[in-house]
Formats: sequence, structure tokens, C-alpha cells
Amino acid sequence: MKIKGIEHIGIAVNSLVDDAPFWKHVLGLNHSGTEAVESEKVTTDIYDTGRGKIELLEAMDEDSTIAKFIEKHGADVHHICFEVDDIHKAIIELKKNNITVIYDEPKVGAEGFLITFIHPKSTGGVLVELAQRPG
Ligand code: ZN
Repeated sequence: MKIKGIEHIGIAVNSLVDDAPFWKHVLGLNHSGTEAVESEKVTTDIYDTGRGKIELLEAMDEDSTIAKFIEKHGADVHHICFEVDDIHKAIIELKKNNITVIYDEPKVGAEGFLITFIHPKSTGGVLVELAQRPG
């Protein structure tokens, strides 16, 4: 598996309306888009730092994994995402090493990336996302 770098850091927030202005106006990060990702029941709000992005995550409803995460941990860093060159190969390789991959078949995430997650029990406690750039 080839890791190409940190694609983004995902941060669970209570409210994009209340919490996004810090990233947008205080830090002055470039807003690259807001998108509803129905498969994950989240609204993503993405900012480009120039070297990796910040992905703010707001739950769409109470069943969203982000709502459950905030209930447990409060608003906090939710996951770290690495860009990979070939996500299908990465999944096969991880499973060969008995690593728990959450989606055996990648889903389409924000910005059209193909994504999966590695379960925190396999990483020492951190939720890790893998993403392959579209096209
Ligand atoms: Zn993410």
C-alpha cells in the first residue's frame, strides 16, 4: 500500500453554523466546499490548509455516527485520513494482515473520493480513513 500523505483531518462539530467561522474567518483557511454525504449521514465542510485539509463533520440526524461520537466524546478530532494510490489493493493488504476494515468495498465520500475506514481497535485507538482521489 502506498500512502501519499495526509488528505485531511476529520473533526466532529456540533454545528457548522457556530463552529465553521473559526476555521474560515479566524484561521482564514480556504473553503473548498460544503457537501451532504448521505451514505455517512453527515454534512462535510472542507477547508484546505495548503498541506492537507480540515474536514468539519456535522451529523444529519441522531443515527449518524457523528451524532453518536459527539454523545460519547463531545466535539473532537474524529479521524485522520490518508490518501492512498489504490484503495482496493490497500483493503486486500490490510485484510491479509488481519486489520479490521469497516467497508470491504469502498464507498464514495466527500469530493468523490473512494473511501473506507480502519477500525480503531486495529490502530491503537484512532479511526483512520483511507481515500483514493477520483479519476
Ligand atoms: Zn474524512
